[in-house]
Amino acid sequence: MDRRTANDPAGALIGGAVGKKRTEITIETHRILRIPRRPALPRAWCEQCSREVERVTPEQVAAITGVDRRAIYRRLEAGNLHFIEGGAAVWICLRSL
Ligand SMILES: [Zn+2]
Repeated sequence: MDRRTANDPAGALIGGAVGKKRTEITIETHRILRIPRRPALPRAWCEQCSREVERVTPEQVAAITGVDRRAIYRRLEAGNLHFIEGGAAVWICLRSL
């Protein structure tokens, strides 16, 4: 099929492709990402927030943020993170992160 005619400017533009068949294949793909829900964190009362909050351990904070655990304890001692009393364990208010 020769599309190069005087009345067909579009055909003139593809001059070099005359005689060659051009096949366009369009493939549509869909991917569904399933993000597992975060397991519920234990809740506790935070004095500084004056409300119930989710609490995490310094180890969890270190694992989530990649921040050194000692740095997290320093921030706790400096009062930058909310400390929550919870028996023998140290808990941190998730809202204060
Ligand atoms: Zn708090």
